[in-house]
Amino acid sequence: MPFRSGFVCILGRPNAGKSTLLNALVGEKLAIISPKPQTTRNRIQGVVHIAKRSGKGGGQIVLIDTPGVHKPDSSLGRKMMVEVREALEGCDLVLVIMDATRKLDPRDEFALDLLRRTGAKAFLILNKVDLIREKSKLLPLIEDYRALHDFREVIPISALKRKGLDTVLEKIVEALPAGPAYFPEDQITDQPARFMAAEIIREQILLNTSEEIPYATTVLVDSFEEGERLTRIAATIYCERGGQKGILVGKGGQMLKKIGTAARMQIERTLGTKLFLELFVKAEPGWRDSRRFVEELDWRRQIEQRMLELGNQGNEDGGKPGRRPPQGSTRG
Ligand code: GDP
Ligand code: MG
Repeated sequence: MPFRSGFVCILGRPNAGKSTLLNALVGEKLAIISPKPQTTRNRIQGVVHIAKRSGKGGGQIVLIDTPGVHKPDSSLGRKMMVEVREALEGCDLVLVIMDATRKLDPRDEFALDLLRRTGAKAFLILNKVDLIREKSKLLPLIEDYRALHDFREVIPISALKRKGLDTVLEKIVEALPAGPAYFPEDQITDQPARFMAAEIIREQILLNTSEEIPYATTVLVDSFEEGERLTRIAATIYCERGGQKGILVGKGGQMLKKIGTAARMQIERTLGTKLFLELFVKAEPGWRDSRRFVEELDWRRQIEQRMLELGNQGNEDGGKPGRRPPQGSTRG
């Protein structure tokens, strides 16, 4: 039985549950999640290691979560769509994930168009079936999708309730070519801890603020010093206007404290050390429309630049890809 491996892109409209699926399949929280659309802004890689089973060989699935497919109206939105296209490039399989509680609409066509251009084989994953009482209601929806594209498999799941995921993994492995393991057993993502920390802070902003603030904010880690027991992180939350800054800081600093405390506990869990987290808030009018600023948010690009600056001699931490935290380091 051959070892099978390959790259699998998760594609779909905003809020379909792509990031929830990535986390559920990998078994670790790699991508942040919120009820607000456009939570994910970068492509996020998650590795699933499949052990050899009776009669079946092992495998490695490299999943790539992507921002939701939408028509962009800012530099940030355009960059998000570039991330989607880059994730689709050269992948072996595409998981088109759709919210099964919603009827097909013209915006789904846009996602299917991207899929067709890649020519890759695809599965249709109908998510959120936990919200559907009568499963027979799924049949007409499946017909509609099948009429639009020749999907290899159609799999109803609940990413949230972790239903149908074994079938998804089984079918993915079967569809992948024989190939090597691309990553060592203990590696589950290529995301640096530094970027994951920024994302966790952004998730707390998404969960604790409303209106335009979730869309008008971004987080950049200014410094990251990892020690054996204590990590020190300083980060800046960028928003677009003074009023938003006021809300993010809150009365007597209450809001910033709430965001910081919740983020600190989560980051401590992923790092496996104590954390000293310092947060700043800054208004940067129109950053979403600044190509230069948006490019600076790209950690892949940041790493390239830092490598150039340091002449390949990185001595600051936080650039290492995420591994499973050491046993016993997880605090509740
Ligand atoms: P993404 O934008 O496609 O990455 O979607 P997210 O993974 O961020 O999820 C968007 C929202 O849908 C969040 O509130 C999730 O909790 C919710 N969600 C995701 N999967 C399921 C599911 O299987 N069932 C239900 N009921 N909600 C889900
Ligand atoms: Mg997402």
